Amino acid sequence: MLKREAGLDHAHGNSPSPLPYENLSKPSVARNAYLDFKDMQVAPSVRQLHRMLPPVTRSALCCDVLNLFMQDASIYAIPVIDEASVPRALIERHAYIEYFSRTYSIEVFGRKPLSQIVDIAPAINNRPIVVDAATSIDDVAAIIIDAGMQHMVSGFIVTDEKKYLGIANGHSLLNSITQRKQDELYYLAHYDQLTRIPNRMLMNDRLHMACREAKRNGTQVGLMFVDLDRFKQINDTMGHGFGDLLLQAVAERLESCIRCNDTVARLGGDEFAVLLVNLPDAREAEITARRIVDYFRLPFSILEREIFITASLGIAIYPVDETESSSLLAKADAAMYEAKQSGRNAFRCYAPGLAMGLMDHSSLESDLRHAIARNELVLHYQPQVSVASGKTIGVEALIRWQHPQRGLLSPAAFIRIAEESGLIIDIGNWVLREACRQQRAWALCHNPPLRMAINISAVQFRRRNFTENVRRIIQETGIDPCHIELELTENNAMHHADDVLNTLRELKRIGVKLAIDDFGTGFSNLSYLQRFPIDRLKIDQSFIRGIENVPANESIVQAIVSLARSLSLETVAEGVETAAEYELTSASACDEIQGYYHARPMPAEDLLNWLSSNQ
Ligand code: C2E
Ligand code: MG
Ligand code: MG
Repeated sequence: MLKREAGLDHAHGNSPSPLPYENLSKPSVARNAYLDFKDMQVAPSVRQLHRMLPPVTRSALCCDVLNLFMQDASIYAIPVIDEASVPRALIERHAYIEYFSRTYSIEVFGRKPLSQIVDIAPAINNRPIVVDAATSIDDVAAIIIDAGMQHMVSGFIVTDEKKYLGIANGHSLLNSITQRKQDELYYLAHYDQLTRIPNRMLMNDRLHMACREAKRNGTQVGLMFVDLDRFKQINDTMGHGFGDLLLQAVAERLESCIRCNDTVARLGGDEFAVLLVNLPDAREAEITARRIVDYFRLPFSILEREIFITASLGIAIYPVDETESSSLLAKADAAMYEAKQSGRNAFRCYAPGLAMGLMDHSSLESDLRHAIARNELVLHYQPQVSVASGKTIGVEALIRWQHPQRGLLSPAAFIRIAEESGLIIDIGNWVLREACRQQRAWALCHNPPLRMAINISAVQFRRRNFTENVRRIIQETGIDPCHIELELTENNAMHHADDVLNTLRELKRIGVKLAIDDFGTGFSNLSYLQRFPIDRLKIDQSFIRGIENVPANESIVQAIVSLARSLSLETVAEGVETAAEYELTSASACDEIQGYYHARPMPAEDLLNWLSSNQ
C-alpha cells in the first residue's frame, strides 16, 4: 500500500538539499547581495520553497500512516490523494497521533484503509487549502493570515492542474517570509533603489571597517568621490527616465573598474563614492582613478543612443590625509571640487588647504572675512593667445588666497564659501578693481593693451547694483571699458534669462565685453544666446581634455565654433594642455587658446617677462 515509503524517507533525509531560497541574499555577502536580491524581489512560489512530500492514497492502511509519522518526526502532515492524483485530505501529525494513542482506535481502525477513518474522524482530517504551484509565498501568507493562522502547523496541498504536487507547511512558510522581509528591510536601508548598488549608509559601514582593518594591517584605504560632469544638462534635455538609465550604466561602469573587494556606492543624485580597501600605497588609488577617467571616454549606450559623459574625481587616503574615517569623505569631496574647478573630466588627490568639512568651512569663512583687509588676496593672470597670430590678446584674472597658515589657496578652496557667506560681493568688487588697476598699469608699458577677462560669480551678478558697481570701478580706475571682458558661466546667464538680458544690455551700454564661461557644460537656450549681447564663448575644458582620443569632443568643439561663427561670436578654448590638444583645437578654428600649453596662471610681476620671451 505504502509504495512511496522509500520516497518519503528520501524526501526527509538527514541532509535535505538547501531550499533555493536559503541561498538568497545574506548581509554577510553584501557586496553581491543586490544581485541575489534582484531574484528575490519576485516572491518565490510555494513550489520553490517547499519540498515535494510524496502523498499516500486513500487506500493506505491507517497503521502504516501512523508508522510513517512515528519513524520520521519531521513529517508534519501527510497528504492523501485519490487514484487520479487529486488531493483529497491532509492528515495532520498531532491530530492523527493523538487519535491513535487511544488503544481502541488502533484495534478498530489500524488495519483499515485511510478512507474509512478519515470519514469517521474528521478531527484528524485537515481540510487542505489548495493552491496553485505558482502561487507566491506572499499570497499564501495572506491566506494563512486571513484564516486566522490556524493552518500554521497543518500545511496544505499544492496542486498543479489539480494534481497533487507537494506539501507546504505554514510555519516554515512564515519563517521564510519573515526572513525575506528582514532581508528586504536590510536591502532597502543599505542599497540604492535605482542603481542597486550600496548607498551612503552601507558605504560608511564598510569604510569604517576598512579603516579598522587597514590600521591593523598597516595598509591604506582610498576613498574616491565621483561626480558626473554635465549630468544635469543631460537629465534636463533627455528626460529623467534617460537620466536614470544613464546613472545605472554609470554604476555598472564604475563597478567594472574596481576589484571585487572594493565598493562603489551611490551617495545621491549624480554623486558616487568608490571605496578601495587594503591598498599597499596611495598610488593604487590614482591608478584606479585614472582607469575610471579613461573608461569614461567611451560612450554609454542608452536607449540605442550613444552618449558621452565624463566624471570628476577626488581622492582622499586613510590614514595619510585623514585618520578619522568619518571625515575622509569630506576630503575626497574637496578634492573632487578641485578637479571640477580645474576643468572637470579629471581626478585630484586631496591636499592640505582644500576647503572641506563643516568645521574647516567655518574657520575658513572667518579667515576669509579678513582676507581683503589683510591683503591676502592676489590675482594671477593666464594668457589668452590668438591662434591666427600667436600673439597674446588678453589675460584672465584668476584669484588666489595667500592664507597665512595654509599657503596659497586656489579658488576651488574658497569661492564656494565666499558665495555662500555673501563675502563674494566684497571679494568680487576687489577683483574688479584690482584687475582694472593692473590692466591700466600694463597698458602704460605694453601695446596693444591686453584685454582683461574677469570672472563674475552668479551671486555678484544678480545683485541689483551690479552694473552700478562696474561703472563706478571703471571710473575710479580710469580704464577704457572696452578692455574689460566679464565672464559669466552658462547657467548663470541662462537662468532667469529675461532679467539677465536687461543687465547684459546695461553692461554693454557701459562698453565692456561679455563672455560665456565654461560653455557647453550648462543648459543653453539657443534663442537666448542669439539675443544676448555677448562677444565670446569660452569652450569648457572638459571638451578639450584628451580631445585626440574622444572623437565626440572634437565634433562638439567644431559645433560650438560654427555656432559661435553663425552668431558672430568669438571662441576661446580653455584648458589646452598638450600639443595634441593644441593641434586639434586650433584646427577646429577656435579664435584663441588659453591653457597650460602656453602658460599657467602667473603673478602680475611675471607676465611682462613672459610676454617678451613668448611673442
Ligand atoms: P575658469 O574661469 O573656467 O578658469 C579656468 C580655470 O582653469 C583656472 O583655474 C585655470 O587655472 C585653469 N586652467 C587653465 N588652463 C588649464 C589647463 O591647461 N589645464 C588645467 N587643468 N587647468 C587649466 P583656477 O584659477 O583654479 O580657477 C578655477 C575657477 O575659479 C575659475 O574657472 C572660475 O570659475 C573661478 N574663479 C577664479 N577666479 C575667480 C574670481 O576672481 N571670481 C570668481 N567669481 N570666480 C573665480
Ligand atoms: Mg573664467
Ligand atoms: Mg572656464
